[in-house]
Amino acid sequence: MYNAVVLAYGAESDRCLGIPGEELAGIYAAREFVWWYNGHPDCRNLDPDLKSTDTAVIFGQGNVALDVARILLRPTAELARTDIASHALAALEESSIRKVYLVGRRGPVQAACTAKELREVLGIKDLHIHIQPADLVTTPADEIEMKNNRIRKRVYELLSKAVTPAHAPYPGERELHFVFFHKPDKFLESNDRSGHLGGVQLEKTILKAFVGDDELVKQVAVGTGVYAEISCGLSLKSIGYKSIAIDGLPFDSDKGIVPNVGGRVLADASKDHMQYDTGLYVCGWLKRGPTGIIGTNLYCAEETLACISDDVDKGILTSNSPKPGRDGLLQLLDSRNTRVVTFDAWEKIDTEEKRRGNLKNRPREKLTTWEELLKVASE
Ligand code: NAP
Repeated sequence: MYNAVVLAYGAESDRCLGIPGEELAGIYAAREFVWWYNGHPDCRNLDPDLKSTDTAVIFGQGNVALDVARILLRPTAELARTDIASHALAALEESSIRKVYLVGRRGPVQAACTAKELREVLGIKDLHIHIQPADLVTTPADEIEMKNNRIRKRVYELLSKAVTPAHAPYPGERELHFVFFHKPDKFLESNDRSGHLGGVQLEKTILKAFVGDDELVKQVAVGTGVYAEISCGLSLKSIGYKSIAIDGLPFDSDKGIVPNVGGRVLADASKDHMQYDTGLYVCGWLKRGPTGIIGTNLYCAEETLACISDDVDKGILTSNSPKPGRDGLLQLLDSRNTRVVTFDAWEKIDTEEKRRGNLKNRPREKLTTWEELLKVASE
């Protein structure tokens, strides 16, 4: 149908921890939770139980982990002024979660979040922050990491400043515990609720530095055989997203990306000589893996576009007969009875969400079922 196609469908699945107990009720991928509070119709009915426990454990210390912690801990009066989905706001208003543990397998120097997002969490009203001062002691390898990476240094400084003199939380305060140097070992079943999460077992770690060409490459968490437990009824795994394969298209399952060089898709990555899938390109998380903020994806897209432009100039994308393009695609979808939501229809959804939000003094009120979205789109 087209001379060039760009795969840009991102990463809509999750990495697994692969530890015992992962199937217990009360454990969710952070992605599902994010989709739930953002009103994605596929997670509209997730209905996480926020009432039977006062403690949530989040695995991972990236920006998604911080986002999720922020939603659980921020006063709901503030959330009510945002575009959070109404069903999530109602559940959070009744939530009994008071303590959130953010568990990282490495130290504060390696926390994967960025400074702006960390500052937002640390600034939540009526929140008691717990950080063990001993965890902030740095090693020479940590100092090298911070020298080489400004963001790591800034995050470390913010965490250091957040350490408060040890005192019990004031009445009404919620608690955020940063737990470093611990990796998930197993999920524990509740004693009184069969099949439901009752706690997590963690293994204490130390960092092992890998050096290559006289330079520090990475510090990796290694288990020590020393274990600790946290009782909790809710756990969110925020250890990274995963892209999924599309039947008939190249996919590297080990790396979780479409194999490519600079955005040009490789027909077969296992071959020694590189062979491109002519006319097929990729960008974003599907191209590089699930890291990077919007700005990172912008540069990534520019690189892919430069490949397309280069291939056009070299005549690689020219075909003997004209391609049917959009009209052909619409005809094909129609012949398969596939319903299409056009940009105009999407704008109707956008306008309706804003109109409903306006009535409640909110930026928008999300439509959260496919039926309702399609109904508004076709009005
Ligand atoms: P991420 O930044 O890659 O963080 C993943 C976290 O999970 C890290 O702390 C990692 O620790 C940990 N982890 C991975 N595997 C683990 C395992 N087996 N056991 C224990 N911990 C494990 O991923 P993310 O938070 O999903 O975010 C994805 C991208 O979106 C990031 O680039 C992020 O900055 C971006 N994002 C940005 C915003 C924003 O700008 N507001 C919001 C959300 C997301 P290790 O470091 O030890 O591997």
